[in-house]
Amino acid sequence: MAEHSSPSSSKVIHATLRALEEPVVLVDRLGLIDFANPAFQKQFSLSSTGLSLSSFFLVEDTLFPISSRVQVVSPPYTLTLSPVEQTELFLVTIQSLDLDQVLDSNIDAALLVTDEDFIVTAVNETAGSLFGFDPSEFLHKMTPVHLHDSEEFQLRKQHLEQLNLKNLSDADILLLHGRDIENEWMYHRKDGSSFYGRLYMTRLRNGGFFLFITDISSQKQIELHLIKSERRFRLIAESVLEAVIFHDEGTILDANRAAEIIFRTRLELMKGHQILDFIQPEFQESVMHRITNHHEEPYEVIGRRADATSVEIEVFPREITYEKTRMRVAVVRDISERKKIEKMLEREKNAIMRQRDITQSILQASNEGFLLTEVDGSFAYMNVKARKLLDVPGIAPSKIQERISMIPNLDLATRYTMLQQVEELLAGKHTEISSRFTLQQPDDSGKNFFEFYATSIKKEHHRFSRHGFLFVFRDRTEEQKMDHVKDELISTVSHELRTPLSSILGFMELLRYREQTADKTTRYIQIVHEETKRLTTLLNDFLDIQRMEAGKQDYVFTHFSLRHLLTETIETFSETAETHTIHTYAEEDPIFVYADEDKIKQVIINLLSNAIKYSHAANKVEVRLTKLSDQAVLTVTDYGLGIPQNAFDKLFTKFYRVDNSAVRKIGGTGLGLAICKEIIESHGGAISVESELNEGSTFTVVLELDPRKDFEKT
Ligand code: ADP
Repeated sequence: MAEHSSPSSSKVIHATLRALEEPVVLVDRLGLIDFANPAFQKQFSLSSTGLSLSSFFLVEDTLFPISSRVQVVSPPYTLTLSPVEQTELFLVTIQSLDLDQVLDSNIDAALLVTDEDFIVTAVNETAGSLFGFDPSEFLHKMTPVHLHDSEEFQLRKQHLEQLNLKNLSDADILLLHGRDIENEWMYHRKDGSSFYGRLYMTRLRNGGFFLFITDISSQKQIELHLIKSERRFRLIAESVLEAVIFHDEGTILDANRAAEIIFRTRLELMKGHQILDFIQPEFQESVMHRITNHHEEPYEVIGRRADATSVEIEVFPREITYEKTRMRVAVVRDISERKKIEKMLEREKNAIMRQRDITQSILQASNEGFLLTEVDGSFAYMNVKARKLLDVPGIAPSKIQERISMIPNLDLATRYTMLQQVEELLAGKHTEISSRFTLQQPDDSGKNFFEFYATSIKKEHHRFSRHGFLFVFRDRTEEQKMDHVKDELISTVSHELRTPLSSILGFMELLRYREQTADKTTRYIQIVHEETKRLTTLLNDFLDIQRMEAGKQDYVFTHFSLRHLLTETIETFSETAETHTIHTYAEEDPIFVYADEDKIKQVIINLLSNAIKYSHAANKVEVRLTKLSDQAVLTVTDYGLGIPQNAFDKLFTKFYRVDNSAVRKIGGTGLGLAICKEIIESHGGAISVESELNEGSTFTVVLELDPRKDFEKT
């Protein structure tokens, strides 16, 4: 037995109490029995301490602690409780009440007294009115068990037997149920109605029993109602996928199963903790703000699971009234999946947008006009080019048919043919149409050539299948020009080939069939030789440009003196140049370059022959070679026809020849300068022209110097 005071004093107390014939106990501040004297142990069949006083008497636990003497009536006893000085214990003395006196008091409880066979021998008035029996119907006929719900009684009996408590009498069964829910029983009235009662029962000294039954129906009903509504609430709360968290200003009071799942924890670990513990730190402040300010708008936030992982959640905060008290509830939904899908859709959308942008920009940048129409010809899409061609300022886009009628500068006949074609396409008579048309440029500067193509589009495999038409307008003005150039080229080339060939053929015939003077023979042979040379050059030029353009020209790079090459070339060239004197101005410096010597020589010859060819009236050509920092600069100047400014940028393109009568009279293919440009640019250099019409021209070639300055030609 626990000793609360000093051992000696408690021994004295215990010894004194033991000696008493009246039952007494010492209880602690919780009402638990600390010491019971033998009289108590015997009378109340107490075998161990630690039981609560309320197991034996009608004493509420809340009575303790007491500071002075207190009397409690607990039929059929009166208890007197008083603090024991210098200890934390209370002395409880128990005195029997006079049963008759108790039964006569108008206490609001049913009191029953039985004999040792458990047959009711006395009842109070309340018992009669509570159970609806006349006292005479009770007395000496019934046991208290008759008043109990038999099913409940049997269940409890079975339960006790399962606990190995065999051969219990009915009275024992009732006696064993002393506390709380167990001492609540279902009782029947005479009229068959039932009610809940609380039973206190003790054994009397004479072997009989005393029963004290209070009606707790109304109290029970409230409780049942509460349990039912709580159960209903639980059912609802558990059946939803959302977490339901009850809290008091952020302290979790209760939560459902879904909350455990979402936050990967257990209810016990949530209760009493802060909601903020389940929010990622960076969001805690804003969530706290919402909680303290009782915000009710839903919000999305990153939650923190018990395992520290993140979970995207949507929170619906609410304030509800339950049992007249205001409570705060947070309904939390796991939106990770939704977010994932949203992100996926977003990515998908972006990809589609990008794709669309790419397609759009291709379409917009395209040199061709694209136009998509619906089945009836109304515009669905137009790129810039198409808009340029078909847009009429101030008139909203409508239908292709209407727009064709409005295309400016389109001649009537073409307009009519196009319209007819389009109508037939829209009517389904054709699946494809195409035609060519010409538009006079507004400033009359020339003509624009177009090709027009349209086809019906059927996207039958697509879910949103719709028919429509695609119109393509292709500006083929450049192409037309090229066609023109090609035509010219063919005539030039054939002319250039035919001229030497026919002259060779003519002179050969003269030599072959007619006797000629030695003089003439020499001259004819010379002409044939010249023409053959011209033909060879022409063919070589052709082959050269073709090879170069195909990237098949192999250059043989060597280290050589450009000055040396220049003087050598001019020397040989001067021998054939009868009409012109070539003046050379070159630095003493050898000017070393690292290049293909033969090809550079070809460039020099080309420029010299052009200079002579296009300056009939002049008699000199000037060649200059200088060094400018790390570059060699070679210029060839003539005082001839000159070149019009507008021809400068086309001059180096193949087959281009200045289009005037003076040039036309002079033979040529338009290949020489193109070849020069190919060669020089392949060496990393540059070629350019400066010219004044009828004054002359200067062609400039710039080449890198060989960085190995001290290298001497061997
Ligand atoms: P080709 O001389 O065979 O016509 P080129 O490519 O050498 O071909 O020259 C292209 C055109 O450039 C010539 O047709 C001519 O109109 C013009 N051209 C070239 N060199 C001169 C020059 N020195 N003076 C005037 N025009 C020139």
